[in-house]
Amino acid sequence: MGWLTNWRRKRVLQRHRVEDGVWRSAARGLGFIEKLSEAETEKLKQLVILFLAEKQFAGAGGIDLTDRMRVCIAVQACLPILELGLDWYSGWTGIVVYPGDFRVQRSEVDEAGVLHEWDDELAGEAMPGGPVVLSWDAAANDPSINVVIHEFAHKLDMLSGEPNGVPPLHAGMDRRAWLVALDGAYQGFCDAVERGKETWLDPYAAEHPSEFFAVISEAFFQEPKETRRRYPDLYEQLKLFYRQDPAARL
Ligand SMILES: [Zn+2]
Repeated sequence: MGWLTNWRRKRVLQRHRVEDGVWRSAARGLGFIEKLSEAETEKLKQLVILFLAEKQFAGAGGIDLTDRMRVCIAVQACLPILELGLDWYSGWTGIVVYPGDFRVQRSEVDEAGVLHEWDDELAGEAMPGGPVVLSWDAAANDPSINVVIHEFAHKLDMLSGEPNGVPPLHAGMDRRAWLVALDGAYQGFCDAVERGKETWLDPYAAEHPSEFFAVISEAFFQEPKETRRRYPDLYEQLKLFYRQDPAARL
């Protein structure tokens, strides 16, 4: 990003504020926001202002988007990039919000050349190079998942191509250490799911390493201590990647 972007951002920050009332009501129920230091909160607010200026929200399915909704989504989307910066979300602009879960049509041609078509019901979707699509109901009312962090973690993963659970790692990070930690945790998790064991994370995380990365990213921010206890090696890697130590905030 060049000087023009920096200049624009400076101007946006000079001219915009998040109203205290809107911030408070958007952050209500988001425990991880309350744990941030004052400096971190200030930084997050600035990111949210820039995020709202640079991304385009669109309501779908008859929803009327309010400032509170936009801020609530922006707050959660910006937490993962608090120490990375908004450029990690560049290359796309749209955020589409449905009132509830939404249907998408899928199709796939199998090895025999037969076309399969079906409908999926989703709470969120991140399209490569395209928008993030969210269910407001899931974003606001489902405490068991954090669909916003989930989809935005996919966006970070997609920065390095086909989503595979490996976002672009920083200089000085050890790719092998990441792969060993991710793979170890993922394989152990898949085994537990296969054996029908009750799992701490959503069994959906067993679908693919990219899903595991998105789900463990939710846990990293929402339940950092438990994440660190269960997956110490992966927690360490996530800490290096996100440049945050959420467990230390508690
Ligand atoms: Zn996902």
